[in-house]
Amino acid sequence: MHDDGRYDDPRVTGSTSDPVSRETDYPSWSPGATGPSNRPTDSDPPAPLDPSSGPAQPEGSAIPEPASGRRTPEASSRPVNAAEVRSTSGRRNTAAAVRFEPAVPHQPTAAAARDAVPVVADAPVASTESLAAVAADPTYVSRETPTREEDDPPLAMEAMRAVQILNPSGEVTMPRPDRTRVMCVANQKGGVGKTTTTVNLAVALALHGNRVLVVDLDPQGNASTGLNVPHHTGIPDVYDCLINSVPLAEVAQAVEGIPNLWCVPATIDLAGAEIELVSVVARESRLDRAIAAYPGEFDYVFIDCPPSLGLLTVNALVAAQEVLIPIQCEYYALEGLNQLINNINLVRQHLNPKLDVSTILLTMYDRRTRLADAVEQDVRNHFGDKVLQAVIPRNVRVSEAPSYGQSVMTYDPGSRGATSYFEAAQEIAERGVKEPVGRNA
Ligand code: ADP
Ligand code: MG
Repeated sequence: MHDDGRYDDPRVTGSTSDPVSRETDYPSWSPGATGPSNRPTDSDPPAPLDPSSGPAQPEGSAIPEPASGRRTPEASSRPVNAAEVRSTSGRRNTAAAVRFEPAVPHQPTAAAARDAVPVVADAPVASTESLAAVAADPTYVSRETPTREEDDPPLAMEAMRAVQILNPSGEVTMPRPDRTRVMCVANQKGGVGKTTTTVNLAVALALHGNRVLVVDLDPQGNASTGLNVPHHTGIPDVYDCLINSVPLAEVAQAVEGIPNLWCVPATIDLAGAEIELVSVVARESRLDRAIAAYPGEFDYVFIDCPPSLGLLTVNALVAAQEVLIPIQCEYYALEGLNQLINNINLVRQHLNPKLDVSTILLTMYDRRTRLADAVEQDVRNHFGDKVLQAVIPRNVRVSEAPSYGQSVMTYDPGSRGATSYFEAAQEIAERGVKEPVGRNA
């Protein structure tokens, strides 16, 4: 790790590989299809499997337990393009602490607007003409072009490029909901993909014309890092909203390079909030009140929860109408889910009758293992159509992106990780328009 917190590019060290990459032709992808035929087919390259892994589901438990199995190590072999490495790893951590301006709702601030992809109601994605115009701009330097660090393409170009690759025909729309959908991304297990899911869904929806706010409710601040939003000590953060009743609008920052996306960061101060909240009035509904102070401001509010079921997560559950549970397709993935569901039921009974487990997303799916398949079947049997058809594969691009302060959507829009999150976002958007939120967790 370097002094600035960035890691060596894994493509240089040769520790990773991904069959779909910037240099290869992008796979043909049908924007409308979200069914099984669109199932991720390329996770990281094959590695020896543990022959003991396989389905062995005990019967009778409310939440099925997974079969035993073991993670396979990630292999490596992709050739390296030195120029690409330089331009990608040269990304500077330049997100400005731009304030969200409540007086001009839904408009990126001046700095963000300069870089913004044009998003208007009838044309929520960048047009071919606008892309061509920017490409013709002599100041634009392609990522593939050998370049000096300071010649990195503007972040807005990354957003345009992402939209062009993910949605080349521009046919896919992500319809905006009638009312703000507040979605709590929760699972008390750590490392299941909560933050990754929050960041990538938020970016995908924002790139397609939705106004999105990400509330980082984890003291580790990973969502803030992933969106390249400053969150060092001294930055106003979600702690100030929860403990000192500072309005959300005063701490939200525009995410550089992604129009329509804002983030309320978490600093390390938030680590104390769990204890400090105990003695605060209306301690379970502090976040709810803060979000409610901006009705209609956003199409989506995603709350990235910490890996616990303490007061921070309770605040998120009270503030939300919907719970999105990422489930990792791994051994132990389902363990503890009963406890989460019980807590959700308690919050619904006593604090938030509107709360609904609306969405389950399977993450880190590895098609080479029977275990992943078994976990998927268990989850689909148990949660039915709450489980999105889109499944997120284990994909090395997804895990590389945060170290460049990017989502995988802009970091490598052609990767399976990006296309899968794009499909998931599309499903969520369509469900929000077609189906009113139910009440059966
Ligand atoms: P959580 O927020 O639940 O703790 P994270 O989103 O931080 O989980 O993910 C845990 C780790 O797994 C991170 O290092 C992340 O980069 C990696 N990761 C998440 N999703 C994927 C994926 N689909 N493929 C590969 N790595 C992933
Ligand atoms: Mg997290």
